[in-house]
Amino acid sequence: MNTWIDFKELRSKLDFEQVLRHYGVEVKRKGNQHHGYCPLPNHNGKKNSPSFSANLERGIFQCFGCGAKGNVLEFAAMMEKADPKDGTALHKVAVELQQRFCPELGGKPSAEKAAPPKKAEPKEERPVMVNQPLDFELKGLDAEHPYLSGRGFTSETIRHFGLGFCSRGMLKDRVAIPLHDNEGKLVGYAGRVIDDALISEDNPRYRFPGKRERDGTLYEFRKTLFLYNGFRIKTPIDDLIVIEGFASVWWLHQNGLPSVVGTMGSDCSERQAELIVSLVKPNGRVWIAPDGDKAGERYAQTLMSLISPHRFVRWVKLDENKQPTDLSAEQLKIRFII
Ligand SMILES: [Zn+2]
Repeated sequence: MNTWIDFKELRSKLDFEQVLRHYGVEVKRKGNQHHGYCPLPNHNGKKNSPSFSANLERGIFQCFGCGAKGNVLEFAAMMEKADPKDGTALHKVAVELQQRFCPELGGKPSAEKAAPPKKAEPKEERPVMVNQPLDFELKGLDAEHPYLSGRGFTSETIRHFGLGFCSRGMLKDRVAIPLHDNEGKLVGYAGRVIDDALISEDNPRYRFPGKRERDGTLYEFRKTLFLYNGFRIKTPIDDLIVIEGFASVWWLHQNGLPSVVGTMGSDCSERQAELIVSLVKPNGRVWIAPDGDKAGERYAQTLMSLISPHRFVRWVKLDENKQPTDLSAEQLKIRFII
């Protein structure tokens, strides 16, 4: 029987601590972290040093001894001596985990995306919340500011992405860009300078949410854990475009290419690569269109090495110093044959 598995949902529902215990690991929790000896059967590094660490909240692990790393499903696969890169083997392990720990997920795809399980934090540790949804929205953003229309964005695009010029607070004199996590929850705002001449070390082109502490809890923002515009892609698709910047996402969307996500900078984390793979059907294609510069070239190489083992990748090369926003609708159509 071929049970349908929503890997993304299963991963978000699985309690890594439970899975570790299932495999006989004595979990020593410190905040969200567990450190200990590496339990993997293929571990070939030192046996008597605590080289293994797991982030119980994010459901990922790594071992400095044997170099193994991955998510909770890949961990279970390795414990079962299966190759996590072997889709069939991974599927089999996922089915067993789902039946054991998340039987409520059943065998049918579910449209609802469940939030990761909330776990009680030990009292002696200062809890850390990463990408916690905001309990407010910025009000009074000016969607008609000339910066956005001057760059060719229509009011429909501006409204779709919730953009607007901010005249006070942390994002004063910047265009505020709402950031949503993989479930579509608002987790923060980025702010873009509107006058490039004012960019300096203290005044970067983009400002992202920083760390803050409230009532003894540390709140952190990490853009490496999600994709810009990723939550709008609800089910795996045939073709996905991956680009660096926010404005390129808006531009492609406006020009009839809405299946586009941004990594929010010229780097792509492993988590982001994993998300990209999960958004594309197994026989689909990932189109990468980095800026036409040295950083863009490195970006493309990173993406190729992370994604090409899992999905077909096509690199759309832009001319020197060009960005996707420099291409007309016609030029985009020629380059992305989707
Ligand atoms: Zn190891």
